[in-house]
Order: sequence, then structure tokens, then C-alpha cells
Amino acid sequence: MPSNEGPNVLQNTPKVLIIGGSYSGLAATVNLLDLCDGKPPRFSSAPANDNSKSISKLPVDITIVDERDGYYHLIGNPLAFASDDAASKSWTRFRDIPALKLPNVRFLQGSVATIDCEKKVAWIVDTVTEQRRQEPYDYLLVASGLRRTSPVVPQALDRDQFLAEARTHTKSIRDAKEGVVVIGGGAVGIEMASEIKVIEPWQKVTLIHSRDKLLSAEPLPDDFKERSLEVLKEAGVEVIMGQRVTDTTTIKTDAGSKSWRLTLANGEQITAGHVITAISRSTPTSGYLPATALDKHGYVKIDASLRFTGDVPNSQSHFAAGDIASWSGIKRCGGAMHMGHYCAINIHQDMLKHRYGQLPTYKELSEFPNIMGLAVGKKAVIFDSTNGTSSGEDLMGSYFGNDLANSSMYCWSSVVSLTILTSITVCWNYMKLGQAITV
Ligand SMILES: Cc1cc2nc3c(=O)[nH]c(=O)nc-3n(C[C@H](O)[C@H](O)[C@H](O)COP(=O)(O)OP(=O)(O)OC[C@H]3O[C@@H](n4cnc5c(N)ncnc54)[C@H](O)[C@@H]3O)c2cc1C
Repeated sequence: MPSNEGPNVLQNTPKVLIIGGSYSGLAATVNLLDLCDGKPPRFSSAPANDNSKSISKLPVDITIVDERDGYYHLIGNPLAFASDDAASKSWTRFRDIPALKLPNVRFLQGSVATIDCEKKVAWIVDTVTEQRRQEPYDYLLVASGLRRTSPVVPQALDRDQFLAEARTHTKSIRDAKEGVVVIGGGAVGIEMASEIKVIEPWQKVTLIHSRDKLLSAEPLPDDFKERSLEVLKEAGVEVIMGQRVTDTTTIKTDAGSKSWRLTLANGEQITAGHVITAISRSTPTSGYLPATALDKHGYVKIDASLRFTGDVPNSQSHFAAGDIASWSGIKRCGGAMHMGHYCAINIHQDMLKHRYGQLPTYKELSEFPNIMGLAVGKKAVIFDSTNGTSSGEDLMGSYFGNDLANSSMYCWSSVVSLTILTSITVCWNYMKLGQAITV
């Protein structure tokens, strides 16, 4: 017997609203489409539940709302901001993603301003018209990640603006006669510095880090941090450790072009033709949610089934995945996709429960260990709790391919088996975004 509880329009077509069309949001979308089509979710070969007699085909309407007009391969940003060719492959407008060209998948380009969990309505400010609009939903997936500053992430909201923004970076790098200085030896700074050496090997690149070890803020062992430093130097990057930049002054050279003079805490001065500040001050984008849904840092409190645990109405139909969720482990794209996959299964199970009275089998997340995979020039440096620290060009191939994990098919099986653990090298192909679904 159908249950009377839960979303009230489940006798009709359930509306799923997904905030954020990146790794977690799109992973949830494609897996939910599979399940509602009566197929196993594409991230797992086995059916979503053990009940082989269960009914699984269901109608669904999915709306993805994102401030951007497309899917951006964020983990490839260090490469996209060093290479025009990589940039053009990094951003795909939602309407051009073959797997999402379906009558029951809709995109809204806008910024979510408020969520009314009681009425199950999202208020969205349309990016183009700047008008506010309402969007009702039965299920909400919050997957809007973290707000990060430039140039750690592009600030453009559409593909054309993004290409212009990326070109400005690559030109500044090429034109920097006195070399490029990258400030900040976290993961992003290391990858940005080393990608410049890969694309423009002739360019002088210096990375300045205020602490005595790279990746000083990361809960990772010292041997990983030391190996990262060795590999970074091998890639040709000059590294200054334990020095804070205390002053940056613009200098006009004779030719009219600009350069910068940086003063370090020890009084030393360095001249640079281009300065990249790779210190990411990231904050959760959760301002549109009631404060009761959030922990003290602004992350969404969830249980192992990825549902809200804060004191909000209808918490059973509110889910969060990816960087915005309060969960263990270093924030990573592999974890984000894994969470999106589980949200899809749990939303689908919930729909079946309410529509057909079927006993649900919800997936539960395990704790995520702290692991990291860094692309440092031609080598990857990897830490995971099973194998410890390792590095090499072979690992670069298997973890990142040749496009910082955008689309390469390399080492598919390791990606599948290490979904939570690895920096997934094959984001586009792993989500099968290039494969059109026939209806
Ligand atoms: C430079 C860089 C390199 C990285 N390299 C790696 C790596 O090698 N391996 C790895 O595993 N991880 C890496 N990461 C981390 C990884 O990118 C994140 O863990 C991952 O992007 C999280 O995915 P997500 O879907 O949760 O959120 P995001 O990818 O942050 O996407 C959030 C989406 O929500 C949208 N959005 C935000 N606010 C709103 C709003 N109010 N309304 C509507 N839409 C909104 C945004 O436009 C965006 O499209 C890297 C991160 C950076 C910045």
C-alpha cells in the first residue's frame, strides 16, 4: 500500500531540485536517472537494493540550478589557467551535455537565495534577468560546494566569460618577463606552480610559502609533504619556505609594462612579472539555508544517509552532498561524486517507499579517510592510508591522465574501485556525461 507520509505529490511526478551542477550534483542526477529508468545506477554494477522483485521504474523531474551556465571541471583549474587549449575543454554548458539532454531534466541559471524547508520551495535569483523566482520541490539536494576566491577558481558564470578570464591568466603568465610568483604552498598553489612549468617550461616560477612545510594546513603525514616538495623542485619550481610576503608593490618598467616587487618577512625582495595568490579562503555556500541546518562553520549537518540532521521541517526529504556537507576526510571530488551517488539511491528508495509502500534500503556513508592526490608537473604524489606516500609519472597517468582528470579513460578499474579514495581521474567519463540516453 502506498504510504500517506512524505512528499505530497508523489502520486504524480516527484520533483527533485539539485542546487549545484558540479561533481556531487551531476553524479546524483545521472545515477537517479538510471534508477528511475529501472537500471542499476551507473556508479555501481549491482542493483541499488537486494530486493530483486522490487519495482524501481519511476517518473521523475529533475531541475539543476547553478550560478554557472555549465559544468566546470574544477580540479583541472590549475591547468585551465595555464593552457588555452585545456580551458576550452574544461567548461561544458549544461545544455550541451549529451547525458542530460532529456525532457525531464531542466537547468536554471541562477543563485539560490533562500530555502523554505517547511513549504519545500526554493527562491532563486535568475543570473541573467536578476529576477527572483520560486521553485517548488519534493526532494532537495544541496550540492553547491564552497565559495572560493580568484584565481583558485574562475569567477565567470558563463562559458564565454570563463574563456576570456582564462586567457587573461595564460597571457599574464606568458608575458611575465621577470617570472611568475605563486604565493601559497597548499594543494592549489603547488598544482598551479607546477602546471605553469609543464605548459611554459622556459618560464621562471617561484612558489613562496609562509610555513616550514608545504601543505601545512593539511592533516597529512610529513613524508607526503616532503615528497611533494622534492617533486615540485624536480618539476623546476623554485621554492622559498618559511617566509611571509609582507608587501607587494607595483613597478612600471621602461616598456610601460607592469611588474611587482615583493618584500618577504626577512627583508629580501623579489621581482615578479606576474603574481598568483593561491591562498584559498573557502567558505560553504550554505547562506540560503536555515541556520539550524548548519554546523558552526556553515557546513550542512547530515547523517550517514546524507539527510539533514539539523532542526528543520521535512528533514527527511532534504539531502546534502559534496564539499558543503559536514563529513569526515579532506574535501575531494571523488568523495563528492560518491555522496551524489548515494543521495540518488536514497532519494529513489524514498520515492519507492512513498509511491508503492516498498520497504526502503538506504545506503549509508562510511567515514572518509584523509587522503590526497596531487598533480605536480609530470608526476603525481599520492597519500592514502593503505599504501602511504607514493609518487611517479605512472601514478600521474592513472590518477590524472593528461588533462588533470577531466576526461581521460586511463586506469578505469582503479577509479571504480577507489571511488572514495582517489582523485577520480575520469570525471566526465566516469559520470558518462558524453553518452546520450535514449528515451
Ligand atoms: C583548484 C582546485 C583543485 C582541486 N584538485 C582536486 C583534485 O585533484 N582531486 C580532488 O579530489 N579534489 C580536488 N579539489 C577539490 C574538489 O574540486 C572539490 O572537492 C569538488 O569540486 C567538490 O564538488 P562539489 O560538487 O561538492 O562542489 P563544487 O565543485 O564546488 O560545485 C558547486 C557548484 O554549485 C554552484 N553554486 C554555488 N553556490 C550556488 C548557489 N547559491 N546557487 C546555485 N548554484 C550555486 C557553483 O556554481 C558550482 O557549480 C580541487 C579544488 C580546487 C579549488
